[in-house]
Amino acid sequence: MHSPPLAGGTAGPAALRPLLDVVLDALHDGAKTRGGPLPRGGPQAVAQRVRAAAPSILPAHGTGAEEALTTLVRTLAEGAADPAEPHCAAHLHTPPLAVATAADLAAAALNPSLDSWDQAPAASTLETLVTQTIAHEIWPHGDALVTTGGTESNQLALLLAREHHGPVQIVCGAHTHHSIHRAAWLLGLPRPVTVPAPTGTTDLTALDDTLTRLHPHPLLVVATAGTTDTGAIDPLPAIADLCATHHAALHVDAAYGGPLLFSDRHRPRLTGLERAHTVTLDLHKLGWQPVAAGLLAVADPHHLTPLTHTADYLNADDDTEAGLPDLLGRSLRTTRRPDALKIAVTLRALGRDGLAHLIDRVCASAHHLAQLIDEEPQLELYRHPDISTVLFRPRDADDDTVAHIRRTLLTHGTAVLGRARADGRLWLKATLLNPHLTPHDLHTLLATTLNARTPPPPTKGTPR
Ligand SMILES: *Cc1c(COP(=O)(O)O)cnc(C)c1O
Repeated sequence: MHSPPLAGGTAGPAALRPLLDVVLDALHDGAKTRGGPLPRGGPQAVAQRVRAAAPSILPAHGTGAEEALTTLVRTLAEGAADPAEPHCAAHLHTPPLAVATAADLAAAALNPSLDSWDQAPAASTLETLVTQTIAHEIWPHGDALVTTGGTESNQLALLLAREHHGPVQIVCGAHTHHSIHRAAWLLGLPRPVTVPAPTGTTDLTALDDTLTRLHPHPLLVVATAGTTDTGAIDPLPAIADLCATHHAALHVDAAYGGPLLFSDRHRPRLTGLERAHTVTLDLHKLGWQPVAAGLLAVADPHHLTPLTHTADYLNADDDTEAGLPDLLGRSLRTTRRPDALKIAVTLRALGRDGLAHLIDRVCASAHHLAQLIDEEPQLELYRHPDISTVLFRPRDADDDTVAHIRRTLLTHGTAVLGRARADGRLWLKATLLNPHLTPHDLHTLLATTLNARTPPPPTKGTPR
C-alpha cells in the first residue's frame, strides 16, 4: 500500500491541487443542497443525515482521499449554519473572507508551529509584525499576543493582572462576557464583583461606589467595548478616569468592537481604549477571519514577562543567547498555529480602507435594519445599534413566543437569529457581520421572522 502524498515541499502543491478541486466541488454541492442559512429539520434530522453519510468513521479499509473528502465535506456543508448566507445572523459568527481562507490553507500546508524558531523561522517574524501593527493601533509602544479568541485573551489578561498585582478583585458590569467569570474561577481569583448595567453599559456611579468600598484591595476593572448581547460600548473615558482615581488596573474586552479601530468613521467610539492596560480583540468576528484569530494587546510589552518559560528542547538558554528567538513566552500553548498569516494577508490585501469599508457596511446595514423595525408596527426595536447588533421582538409577544419563533426559524432552516435578554425581556438578536447584505435581505429577514409566528400547518416531513 503506498503512502498518501504530503502537503508541503515542492511536490505538495501538485498533490493538493486535485484534492482542492474535490473539496471546492463538495462545498458547492453541499451549499446548493442546503439551499438556505442552515439545514432544515432540526437537530435530530441533521444528526441522522450525518450518521447515514458516515456510518463508519474508522473503516477497516480506507475509502481514499477523493471519496472521503467528497462525502464528509459535502455532508458538513449541507448541514452547516453558513454565515455567508444573508439570513444567518445569530452570533458573532463571521463569514470568513475568501482571501483569509486561502491564506489559512497555506498555513495548514506549511504547518509552522509558533513555539520555537526552528519550526517557524519566517512565520515567527510575520507574527511579530502583525501583533505589533495591531497593538500600535492602540498604543505607540504596545505589543500583542495571538490567541484562540476572546476567551483565551480574557484569561491571559486576568492571569497577567494577578501576576503583577496579586489576587486582584475583578470589578465588572453585569453585561460582562461569561468568560471573565470563568477565567476568575480558573485562576483562583475572588468571584468578580458585578456592577449594575441597567442601560446596557456599566453604571458609573455604582462603579465609583464599588471601587471606593473595595479599596485598598488590588483591583482590576473589566470594561466591554461591544457586548455580545447588544453590541453596547461602555463609556471608556469615564471608566478610565475612575480607574485612575481608585488605582485600579483596566482591561477592556473589545472582542467585538476592537476592529472599529480600523474605521475612521467608527474609531472615535473607542476613545479611551488607549487608557487600558490590556485589550482583548477578536478578528474572527468583525475581522472576517476563519476561526481562530484572537489577540490580547498590552500597553506595556514588559507586562508579558510573567509568561516567560523555558523548556530545553524549545528555547534553551544557550540557544537564546546565540540569537535564536525565544517564542515560548508568547503563549500558554506549546504547539501553535500561524494564525498571523491569514491576518497579515487580509490586512495587506484589503488595506486600512478596504477593512474600514467592510466595517462601515455592516454598521450601516444594522442601522438600516433598525430603521425597518422601527417603521414596522408589528415589531418593537430594543434600540438603535452601537455596532452591528439589532434586538427586536413582535410587539405583543411574550418571552415564550419570542423563544418559539427563534426555534421555529431554526427548525425550518429559514433564518438563524440569536436571543438576548435586555430590559428584563427576551429579544430576537440579529448580529450583522455579512458585508454583502442588501436592503432586500433585511426586508426578507423581517418578513420571514413575522411569518414564523403563525404555526405552520401540520405536515409530514420537514416544511421549509
Ligand atoms: C465573543 C466574545 C468573547 C469570547 O471570544 P471567543 O473568541 O468566542 O473566545 C469575549 N468577550 C466578548 C465581548 C465577546 O463578544
